[in-house]
Amino acid sequence: MPAHPIGVHIGPGLTEDDEPDAGGPLARAAEMDADGVQVFLADPQGWTAPTPRPDAADLLASDVTVVVHAPYVLNVATTNNRIRIPSRKLLAAHARAAAAVGAVGLVVHGGHVLARDDPAAGVDNWRKTFGRQAEDGGFPVPLLIENTAGGGNAMARDLDALARLWDAVGEFGAGFVLDSCHAWAAGWDLATAVDDVRAITGRIDLVHLNNSRDPHGSSRDRHAPLTDGEIPAELLIEVARAADCPIVLETPGDTASHAEEIEMLRRALS
Ligand SMILES: [Zn+2]
Repeated sequence: MPAHPIGVHIGPGLTEDDEPDAGGPLARAAEMDADGVQVFLADPQGWTAPTPRPDAADLLASDVTVVVHAPYVLNVATTNNRIRIPSRKLLAAHARAAAAVGAVGLVVHGGHVLARDDPAAGVDNWRKTFGRQAEDGGFPVPLLIENTAGGGNAMARDLDALARLWDAVGEFGAGFVLDSCHAWAAGWDLATAVDDVRAITGRIDLVHLNNSRDPHGSSRDRHAPLTDGEIPAELLIEVARAADCPIVLETPGDTASHAEEIEMLRRALS
């Protein structure tokens, strides 16, 4: 295992090398010389449950680190029952499906409550999500909560909100994903972000290393290639170095450009 395993998100939603055909994520990883892959197991914008993958056994047996990203639509924090209850069910289904492909974790966004709601209600809903799952034996893979770029009453956009969330979920072994684009959009100081997060969570399990098309504090979530965005590339490299954990690129581009990004990053971190 390299000191900083570098993976790439493969599949719909972010990259051009879209559908996991022609060998699937493992073939893409080999072409890019990636140490890991991140995949969706169902439509990222939909509510369909994951179905068994034909390449599950290969993913399970592979040395390539596999990360699964839950659909964006999930929001276990919301006070809206018609969103929260299916979100919990789908989260559990994705965790089972993630275990079936040998994933090291399931990434899920922190979610949010409505503007009129007390954010404490969202924190409580997160606690219940973990608490109920714990009664069922817990999640079969670690749940990794990702910081988000914008939105009012978000659970994991601002550091003070993250601290309140972690008071509720830390005891259940929740993991954390630091997305550099989202942190930049939320106005975090990227020079201290890794230390700032660790002071709250005690851990960073994964970095989504992405540049941003928008200025600091914009609340916008538009990823850019590592060396072609508003965030100085040196700052991104320092985030990766300081976090000292697996990295997944969710940068726009194709196999060739991702191979170049991996090579650049690997050299910078060596
Ligand atoms: Zn991300």
